[in-house]
Amino acid sequence: MTHDSFAPPPLPQDTTAGPWTDTPSTDSTPTAATAGWGEDSAAVERGRCPVCGAALAYGAGSSALVCGSCGHRVEITHGDDESVSEHSFEQWLAHNDRYEVASIGGQVLACDGCGASTETKDVAGHCQFCGGNLVASSNPEGVIPPEGVLPFLVDSRAARDNFTKWVRSRWFAPGALKQVGDTESIRGTYLPHWTFDANTTSDYTGQRGEHYTEKQGDQEVRRTRWHHASGRIRNTFDDLLVPASTTLPRNRVAKLGPWTLGEVKPYKAEYLVGHSAVRYDVDPQAGYVEAKQTMDDEIRSDVKRDIGGDEQRIHHIDTTYSQVMFKLILLPIWIATFMYAGKQWQVMVNANTGEVVGDRPYSVPKIVAAVVVGLVLAGVAFWLFNRDG
Ligand SMILES: [Zn+2]
Ligand SMILES: [Zn+2]
Repeated sequence: MTHDSFAPPPLPQDTTAGPWTDTPSTDSTPTAATAGWGEDSAAVERGRCPVCGAALAYGAGSSALVCGSCGHRVEITHGDDESVSEHSFEQWLAHNDRYEVASIGGQVLACDGCGASTETKDVAGHCQFCGGNLVASSNPEGVIPPEGVLPFLVDSRAARDNFTKWVRSRWFAPGALKQVGDTESIRGTYLPHWTFDANTTSDYTGQRGEHYTEKQGDQEVRRTRWHHASGRIRNTFDDLLVPASTTLPRNRVAKLGPWTLGEVKPYKAEYLVGHSAVRYDVDPQAGYVEAKQTMDDEIRSDVKRDIGGDEQRIHHIDTTYSQVMFKLILLPIWIATFMYAGKQWQVMVNANTGEVVGDRPYSVPKIVAAVVVGLVLAGVAFWLFNRDG
């Protein structure tokens, strides 16, 4: 199909500032697409190289969009007034409790390549017709916009190297390695996460157990003497992470950490160009319940430490949570998907640290062979045993 007849519709403009800043190109030959600064930034705004018109993508480990065809770079700039802010959870709850993210519809994104419209709940993705970039530049009402983004640091080649090392160190059948690692099987995506901060004060009651030994005949028996214990402890929690999407197994996503959260940048759509990003589907209220569980686990172990002694019993903890702040951030991962033994396998690579998390596929024929050999041996042993008996 030809896309020449499509005039790509402009993306909704952010009126506060032009988010795309171009760096001077070494190739200054003006073309229709690059004649004049105005057209230049318009091309970049559509995710297209202002020099050659090919697709741009955020360059891992850089602060720029890089053209996949001619290598031209467009620097991503942040104003002095941009920062990663956190929001009062209480205030948000008071005004936005009526929104449930599951009931908010998709939005229409225009492809930067062919101009085709796609209705989606994703924040960024790829056009189903031409593979061009789709990036949302606004949010439907009720959807919380990301506050920060941790840009890709590990590029796809390094991710594939880490993945290959991981496979080599765990794989049951080394021969299967050649089946994985083609360029189609790895894709970059940003996963939404909530972060929560809170100050807590916990009043507790319990018992402190102290060990002593008692003589019983000529034996020493250990016993525990219990004393009443009570007190107050205070904790400060900062940036507790809760996965905000259920599109990938959450227990595995949680294992991808820790993340270098100090490198989180104020959110800009540019960081998403060339990658995909899903909208969160875990509401902040549900995220807060999970964050509280993490806080409570830590508070319990702190209470035990506070009680001291050799053993501790906790009867009651009364915790007040104050100054609860939250924000939405996007964290980068590479997902490698491959078929093996007729089954689809998925491995995730933390694109910030290179950490690999995934299922280990076993060679089914080898396991079947091992089981068959085992059964034959057992049968032979059984036959020998019964013949003699
Ligand atoms: Zn280019
Ligand atoms: Zn397209």
